Amino acid sequence: MMGAHHAMTGAAAWIAVTATAGHGLGLFPVSPAGTITGALLCAGAALLADADHGSATISRSVPVLGRLVTGGISRASGGHRHGLHGLLAVLCVWLLATGLDRLSWQSPWAEKPIDVGVAAASAAAIAFAGYALGLAQGSWPIAWLIGLVGAAGITVFAPERSDWFIVCITLGYGVHLAGDLLTTGGLPLFWPWVPRPPRAWRKVPVLRHVWTSGGYLALPVLGNAGSVREWALLIPVTLYVGYGMLFAALAEVGVDLAAILH
Ligand SMILES: [Zn+2]
Repeated sequence: MMGAHHAMTGAAAWIAVTATAGHGLGLFPVSPAGTITGALLCAGAALLADADHGSATISRSVPVLGRLVTGGISRASGGHRHGLHGLLAVLCVWLLATGLDRLSWQSPWAEKPIDVGVAAASAAAIAFAGYALGLAQGSWPIAWLIGLVGAAGITVFAPERSDWFIVCITLGYGVHLAGDLLTTGGLPLFWPWVPRPPRAWRKVPVLRHVWTSGGYLALPVLGNAGSVREWALLIPVTLYVGYGMLFAALAEVGVDLAAILH
């Protein structure tokens, strides 16, 4: 899947999981402001798995350093679509997010401690999302500005639930893997255990695309990454995100969009 598509599906997933007003599942209900800020963060989290890609969007986020970090991650995880694209990585992200969630700093002039871990991770994730979605017009300084504004928004309007950050980051990360699972490349889901299918399996028509000769697993309903089908899927996903964000923004100021539309 393409970066912008990963980001958009991440935002859609957060809205679907948190919104209650008829257009969401309400599995993890948060306030309308929490829906908006979380959607931005989840969009950014949905880009993290491609940090194993030396030429990925993220590698250009910070001059020199970005390439060094993504290059290092890429080598440590075995290259693109290896370690960072397995279930073990989801577990690691969950642990990392839990650690970041606990990092706080009590400034002498503020009443409450500031969640510095959440703020820093949010600024980076939202900068990535802003860049991938084209909001920054291809400029990383603008993307970082969007990230900083977003992170400030999160510190003020964070969802009221204490565990939201961990759920949001892990969900976005998982949605990225789900998106890649739907393309022909597939994923090494149980990395570092990547068993290859027996020779006979590689001749079975449909199944050889589900468990590829390289040992990757896929449900390739979208075809190749960036296919027409992938773009077609993104139209309803984008409309859903647009509706969910508008609904939440209006709800925040006391307007019920669902009642107006009926
Ligand atoms: Zn990927």
